[in-house]
Amino acid sequence: LAAMYTVTDPATGELIEQIENSTDQEVRDAIARVHRGYLSWRERPVAERAEIVARAGELFAERSDELAAIMTLEMGKRINEGRGEVGIVVDIFSYYAEHGPSLIADEPLKIRGGDAVIRKEPIGALLGVMPWNFPMYQVARFVAPNLVLGNTILLKHASICPRSAVAIEQVLRDAGVPEDAYVNVFASSRQVPSILADPRIVGVSLTGSEQAGISVAAEAGRNLKRCVLELGGSDPLIVLDTDDLDATVEAVATARLRNCGQSCNAPKRIIVVGDLYDPFVEKLTARVASFYLPGDPSDPSTKLPPLASVSAADEVFEQVETAVRQGAVLRTGGRRVEGPGAYLSATVLTDVTPEMDAYRDEIFGPVFLLFPAASDEEAISIANDSPFGLGASVFGTDPARMRAVADRIESGMVYFNKSGGSQADLPFGGIKRSGMGRELGPLGIEEFMNKKSIRL
Ligand code: NDP
Repeated sequence: LAAMYTVTDPATGELIEQIENSTDQEVRDAIARVHRGYLSWRERPVAERAEIVARAGELFAERSDELAAIMTLEMGKRINEGRGEVGIVVDIFSYYAEHGPSLIADEPLKIRGGDAVIRKEPIGALLGVMPWNFPMYQVARFVAPNLVLGNTILLKHASICPRSAVAIEQVLRDAGVPEDAYVNVFASSRQVPSILADPRIVGVSLTGSEQAGISVAAEAGRNLKRCVLELGGSDPLIVLDTDDLDATVEAVATARLRNCGQSCNAPKRIIVVGDLYDPFVEKLTARVASFYLPGDPSDPSTKLPPLASVSAADEVFEQVETAVRQGAVLRTGGRRVEGPGAYLSATVLTDVTPEMDAYRDEIFGPVFLLFPAASDEEAISIANDSPFGLGASVFGTDPARMRAVADRIESGMVYFNKSGGSQADLPFGGIKRSGMGRELGPLGIEEFMNKKSIRL
C-alpha cells in the first residue's frame, strides 16, 4: 500500500482513489523526455515561452473552481482558500510571463580594460518534489520562472495529491507547454535518489519537511546538483503594542489558522511584549474557542477545516498532548474531534518553556503558542531561539521601533503588521533549518540559471 498515490477525503476518511506508483522504467522514460524537451524548449524565443506561461495563468484562472474542489477533496482545504490559492498561482504565472523576459535579459558589465556581458541561460531539466499543503501554489512558484527561463521540469508531487498533480500537468499542456517540457511522475520518494543520480537532471527544488530536505540535499550533494529547499518554520510573531487589540487578535488568529495551520510560514510562536500579554491571551482564546469551529471544508461558511490527513491530525494532536504532559497550559482546544475525519480543534497553549518539545519543534496544525516578553530585547531573543529561520512578523504602532526589532530577527522574511501569506513579486525563503535559496519575485528565476560571463 505504501507504493501508491492515494486520494482520501480528510473530511470523511473515505478512500476515493489509488494510483500505482510509476515503475523505474517509467521514471527513466520521463527523465529522457524532460532532457529531450530541454534541448528544444531552450531554443524557443523567450517571448514565446513567456506567452505560453501567460496562457497557463489564464487557464488556471478559468479552472479555479475545479482546481479548488480537487484540493478540498485531497487535502481538506477550505473551498474559498482553494480559490484564493489559485488566485496566487495566476499572479505567479502572469508575473513571470510579464517580467521574466527582462529578468533574463543580458546584463552589460563594465570591467577593467573592456566590456563584458552576463548572459542568463537555463541549465537543463530539473526535478521538483512538492508537498500537499498548497498543492498548486508550491508547484507554480517553481515551475513558472523556470519555464520562462528555458529549463524543463520533472515533477514528483506529494503522494496524497495525485489529482492536483494531473490537473496542473493538464493546464500546462493545454496552455501549450510541450509534452516533454513538463512531465508529472508518480514516483515514490525511494526513487528520488536515482533521479538525482542521472546526469540529465541538473537540479532539484523541494518544499517539505526537514527530513525530506535532508535526504534530497544529501543526494544533491553526492551528485553535485543545485538544490533549493523550502522546509519548515516556526515563525515568530511579535506584538510590540497596538491601538486596536481586537484587530490585532483577529489578524493573528486568521494568519495562524490559514490553511488549518499547515503553512510553513504561519506565525507559530506569538510573542507579546509587556502588559498586553494577559488581555491578548484572553481575547485570542475566546475568539478561537467561539469562532473557529471545525466544519466541512466544501462549505464556504466553515471556519476550520480538517487537517490534510488523519496521520497529520494524529501527529499534531500528539504534539499538543506531549506539550501538556510536559507542563504547558491548555487554554482551549486540544481535542481530536470524534469521527472518521482528520479534525483537530483550534488550540491555544501558553507557558511553553525551553525544555518542552513544543518550544523547538514545528507544529503543523491549528495550534497557537503564546509567549510573554518583558521587553523588546527579550522578544527578539525568544524569536531567535529556534532552529528555524523562515519568516517573522512584527506588529506595532511605531515604525522605528518595529524596524529596530526586524533588523535583529534571524529569518529570511519579515512582515510588518501582517503575517504570512505570499505574493508573486516578493522573494520567499528562509535561513537556518528552514532551507536555502529563494523563490518568487526577481530572485526566484535565478536559482537554476547559468549566469554566463562573456568577456567581449
Ligand atoms: P514531506 O516532506 O514528507 O513531503 C513533501 C514531499 O517530499 C512529498 O512529495 C514527499 O513524497 C517527498 N518526500 C518525503 N520524503 C522524501 C525523501 N526522503 N526523499 C525525497 N522525497 C521525499 O511532508 P510530510 O507529508 O511528511 O509532512 C511532514 C511535515 O513536513 C509537516 O508536519 C511539516 O512540518 C512539514 N512540511 C512543510 C511544508 C512546507 O511548506 N514547508 C509542506 C509540507 C510539510 P511522498 O508524499 O511520496 O512521501
